Amino acid sequence: MTDELSSFPGGLILDGQKKRSTQTEIRKTPLSKKLTLPLQQHIGTPSAPIVKVGDKVLKGQKIARADGHLSVYLHAPSSGTVIAIDDQAIPHPSGLSGLCITIETDGKDTWIERQPIEDFTTLTEHEVRQLLREAGIVGLGGAGFPSFIKLNPGVHHAVETLIINGVECEPYITCDDMIMRERANGILDGIQIMKYALRVKRCVIVIEDNKPEAISIMKQALEERKECHHLKETQVVVIPTRYPTGSEKQLIQVVTGKQVPGNGIPIEIGIVCHNVGTTYAIGRAIKYGEPLISRIVTVTGTDVKHAGNFETLFGTPMHELLAFCDTHREQGEPFILGGPMMGYNLSGDHLPVTKTANCILVGVDNAAPDSTPLPCIRCGECATACPVSLLPQQLYWFSRAKDLEKTREYNLFDCIECGCCSYVCPSKIPLVHYFRFAKTETMNQEQEHQKADIARQRHENRLTRHELEKREKEERQRQRKAALAATKAAKEKEALSQTDNQEN
Ligand code: SF4
Ligand code: SF4
Repeated sequence: MTDELSSFPGGLILDGQKKRSTQTEIRKTPLSKKLTLPLQQHIGTPSAPIVKVGDKVLKGQKIARADGHLSVYLHAPSSGTVIAIDDQAIPHPSGLSGLCITIETDGKDTWIERQPIEDFTTLTEHEVRQLLREAGIVGLGGAGFPSFIKLNPGVHHAVETLIINGVECEPYITCDDMIMRERANGILDGIQIMKYALRVKRCVIVIEDNKPEAISIMKQALEERKECHHLKETQVVVIPTRYPTGSEKQLIQVVTGKQVPGNGIPIEIGIVCHNVGTTYAIGRAIKYGEPLISRIVTVTGTDVKHAGNFETLFGTPMHELLAFCDTHREQGEPFILGGPMMGYNLSGDHLPVTKTANCILVGVDNAAPDSTPLPCIRCGECATACPVSLLPQQLYWFSRAKDLEKTREYNLFDCIECGCCSYVCPSKIPLVHYFRFAKTETMNQEQEHQKADIARQRHENRLTRHELEKREKEERQRQRKAALAATKAAKEKEALSQTDNQEN
């Protein structure tokens, strides 16, 4: 790792619009009467229910287990009764529904018995990861990747640097900024545990220079704990504000000067990256035995009267959170989940807050507008803005023409969907929408190909089996006939020898 900061191509300097939601401290969202918990709140296989309708549950109790390797546990965010396990509307751009567990809360918010671990060094690294999996910890920066997997470098990789991502480069979103300002020591608790689990010496907490309060508080907290063995070689690194530096690969490039290979992952170059909110959750899970049952959600935008950051239990209906912030919004009116650049429009009124819901924006336009676009004028602005050095104009033509082969050739899957190209396009072409569509189409096609391959393989296996059975049958018939012929010949021989004996 170099001490000098590096850079990446393209990117944008955006108006942060962050002040609106940082004027008050983090507040708690009131307990909802009903919490709806999708079983798929992370990347990987959905969790599998371990409760049934009618069961009483306590706050923090496991209600669904990890199903397969890429999966985590899910917990009751409050005490109450399971009243349904069925398909419900979930926050997804396509308006999908998904299997959910619904809990009617009893208002008592009674915790299950927690098992805090005072000294994490009494655990093995494997035990730390297992506890984090059981605590349901996933990346809270928006991706939702199970954290225990990122804390397992495997035998073939040594981790050189742990990067704690406090960049939060999208406009409006401030949940990471506020957690650094108010819970710096909790973040340091998480860093200690992660450094231990990864056996890594060096850790950098990276913050953009538009968050002076967070920078100063994190530095001070580190200074106060500088004697702590597990925080040695940990430092705050301040970087210039530029979108999309918070994106993992761009951040790594800025901080280390290294590039993660196209289809690769950071561990391949000795880096592991975790978001500050995730880091805090890891600290709580081990030190206090608290599973992941809530997160901080930024609620802001021109139509939100009391914008701010809200500690919200998972499953809380978003419209209740919006009402709590005194939001001017008609029933069914769309809002953005996530930031204006990478977020997506939703319009449902009973969608639950999930592990990846970092921000709700009301009264803010999306970077990829829905208005009718003008024709492409081949200005090249999109290519200049692209932080991955792609050619968005060409990708747009191929995506429109559904020439998926060509989109692959032009590295569509390197696109991080940052929205920079859509943002700068003078013709207001929602480029990133086309890219998402082309990716989905490609993945669907691949699935179809895989299904067709499997079906063909099955058909071929069946033909081979039939052929084999036919040959076996023929062989059995041949053997039976031979046996019959042999018996007949033996009998004839015996009859002949008896006749011979009589004549003699
Ligand atoms: S920015 Fe828009 S108009 Fe310009 S080349 Fe790209 S797609 Fe075409
Ligand atoms: S959305 Fe994709 S193509 Fe457009 S600027 Fe971002 S990375 Fe480049």
